[in-house]
Amino acid sequence: MQMDDDACRMPSCVDDTVRPPSLDEFIGQEELRANLHVYLQAARARGQAMDHTLFYGNPGLGKTTLSQIMASELGVNLVSTSGPVLERSGDLAAILTNLGRHDILFVDEIHRMPPAVEEVLYPALEDFKLDLVIGQGPGARTVKIELEPFTLVGATTRIGLLSSPLRDRFGCIFRLEFYSPEELARIVARTARILRVDLTPDGALEIGRRSRGTPRIANRLLRRVRDFASVKGNGAVDTEQAAEALCRMDVDESGLDQMDRKLLTVLIEHFGGGPVGVKTLAVACSEEVRTIEDIYEPYLIQCGFLKRTSRGRMATARAYRHLNLLA
Ligand code: ADP
Repeated sequence: MQMDDDACRMPSCVDDTVRPPSLDEFIGQEELRANLHVYLQAARARGQAMDHTLFYGNPGLGKTTLSQIMASELGVNLVSTSGPVLERSGDLAAILTNLGRHDILFVDEIHRMPPAVEEVLYPALEDFKLDLVIGQGPGARTVKIELEPFTLVGATTRIGLLSSPLRDRFGCIFRLEFYSPEELARIVARTARILRVDLTPDGALEIGRRSRGTPRIANRLLRRVRDFASVKGNGAVDTEQAAEALCRMDVDESGLDQMDRKLLTVLIEHFGGGPVGVKTLAVACSEEVRTIEDIYEPYLIQCGFLKRTSRGRMATARAYRHLNLLA
């Protein structure tokens, strides 16, 4: 994967400057927003901690942003960590015992939390208690620690990898969908106002169309398009400027980048369009299976370029047409 692509898919500090601070400013995901609004209001009215909440969906769709919005709308602290960082149960215990009343603990990539740590989490989620085993062998003893009521907010790109006992402990589960080009246009228009970029509505829509349904990518494309416009043009970004800059960045009119096209081309040219197993495809593309499954496939499937069948991945007629290849 190119460095630039990597950067667009990883959270960055630039994300923080443009994150919507409230549900009102969060664009799209209407049903999720309406329901979350009700649950937040109800928790506030009851004076209780909000139910444990899980957000799942592709990277860059707004899971971290929503956890921050929850904390700010509830007026509580947010403590953030991630599944792979919590290596030992003691790591989790240290965080849990420091949480204040009704605080939110945000665990990104929660599907990557080790099973031993998960075991410690269960009683904490149910009864706000920790059962810690101190020492080893015959001298080992269990210590019970009372915790303040808190809310766990988990985020995952792979809900299927979450163990069912953990999944069952979330009272609210929300799926984040890809955004429409129009919603992404509103998101980049908002970001452009914050970054003081002169962006026409048509320019915003052009970026929205090519952002793989993902706000993080839309915001990143806006920043690069702004660079091209300020060096090559008069500084304002319209459709033409946006389209030209995006072509130079190898993002085509469907929003597919070099790696998307490589994946489809390899599938068609090396494997006759499939079906082929994802592991074989990953080796042929010199890419990790997880990256293909988490990042490339969902959008290609959503746009109808790729099919996932029981025998493996297959290119669709649309993929052949898009790449000008013969079936
Ligand atoms: P995730 O945690 O799902 O990977 P983030 O919450 O970090 O995604 O969002 C990535 C970027 O996209 C953030 O900078 C955020 O500002 C922006 N973003 C995501 N969803 C929205 C939205 N609905 N409206 C406006 N901006 C959004």
